[in-house]
Amino acid sequence: MLSKSLLPPEPASPAHICPFDQACSYLEAAAKELNLNQGLLEILSHPRKVVTVSIPVKLDNGEIQVLAGHRVQHSDVLGPYKGGIRYHPAVTLREVSALAMLMTWKCALLGIPYGGAKGGIAIDPKRYSVGELERISRRYISELIKDIGPSVDIPAPDMGTSAREMAWMMDTYSVNVGHAVPGVVTGKPLSIGGSLGREMATGRGVMIIVREALADQGKSLAGVRVAIQGFGNVGSAVAELLSEAGAKIIAVSTGAGGIFSEVGLDIPKLKVYAAKNRKSIMGFPQSISISNADLLTLPCDVLIPAALENQITEENVNQVQAKIVAEAANGPVTLEANLTLEARGVTVLPDILTNAGGVVVSYLEWVQGLSYVFWDEERVNREMEHLMVQAYHRVIQQSKVRQIPFRLAAYTLGVGRVAQALTDRGLYP
Ligand code: NAD
Repeated sequence: MLSKSLLPPEPASPAHICPFDQACSYLEAAAKELNLNQGLLEILSHPRKVVTVSIPVKLDNGEIQVLAGHRVQHSDVLGPYKGGIRYHPAVTLREVSALAMLMTWKCALLGIPYGGAKGGIAIDPKRYSVGELERISRRYISELIKDIGPSVDIPAPDMGTSAREMAWMMDTYSVNVGHAVPGVVTGKPLSIGGSLGREMATGRGVMIIVREALADQGKSLAGVRVAIQGFGNVGSAVAELLSEAGAKIIAVSTGAGGIFSEVGLDIPKLKVYAAKNRKSIMGFPQSISISNADLLTLPCDVLIPAALENQITEENVNQVQAKIVAEAANGPVTLEANLTLEARGVTVLPDILTNAGGVVVSYLEWVQGLSYVFWDEERVNREMEHLMVQAYHRVIQQSKVRQIPFRLAAYTLGVGRVAQALTDRGLYP
């Protein structure tokens, strides 16, 4: 494995799967397939900039807590850095670095003019009041003020953050530079330049990719049995859109566990139920409780992990019964589990393609903001669908031409585009 000099070493625990090492392994596989030279691989396997800041925050009880906030900028070869900000207890610098690298390949694969970045703070947002979260978000972004900007690095929501945090961040940046700068973040509320369609965008993109993959197998979404891990922004949106299209959502879960119904869950009612019960889905009428582990191994046609990394591993991969695994989350299938699924003929729809709907609509939001012309939702959805379907067909074509699995095909397209741009731009000085 190459040295990644800006990052701290990973704790030496044999059971621990390092997301950054995994991301580098995918990069190395793509580089090998593309016959990239070692120098290019060295450049692409190192984040360009790694920033960690202290975030002192006054809690509601008067105590002061100091948190660590990260922003990793992997590559800006194709355009400004782009990537979400995650609030989750499991955030580490290496995880953020892996996610930043994925963003680079994702934007390149989709053909949008961005590089890749990611940010994160290791907190459980449920343990903080709204006021505390606002102070954390504002201080985090003010510490990064010189590193972000609408043509430099444009954050967006990820796990644990939403339009609310983006509004606080946009305001903090704007106040500091002295004028309103809507283009500094995407995923903003509509009132300050957000785009119609952004909230459902990642879920809509997942639905489109699953629909295309089923169509290639001569099937439609109608009646397909789907299990979804995670019922947050992405999981609930994809559940809603798939059920609208006639799929049967037999199970969904959150961090607290899952629910199952053989006849299919009523997703609109479940969304209302979760909203009333502080995002809890447990106890939903006409469902039975299952564990998160059970959800992943249910007999179903399509399994959609839409929560965390490393959910399908060597431990449970042999119990997975789905015929299609659609990675709505980033990195939910480990490298070894992915090989096992591919060898068994399971279609694995890779994250850098499947969950790209969010960054595509972020891009459309940025374009609308820069041009001061705002589109209706139908146009946003149409433009996004066009880019997603095109990218899907590029991946299928690459997979056929090179005789390689979808994930490697997607990586070769993303990595290849960045490598070409790097070669054309040349190395400074
Ligand atoms: P979210 O915070 O809105 O929802 C996360 C969901 O996962 C919640 O339902 C939570 O309860 C559940 N969860 C947490 N821990 C779990 C566990 N151990 N087991 C099962 N469920 C668990 O986050 P989100 O925005 O929906 O993001 C989900 C995934 O999708 C992440 O991997 C994120 O990086 C990826 N993603 C998000 C977007 C976006 O636009 N939000 C875009 C691309 C990729």
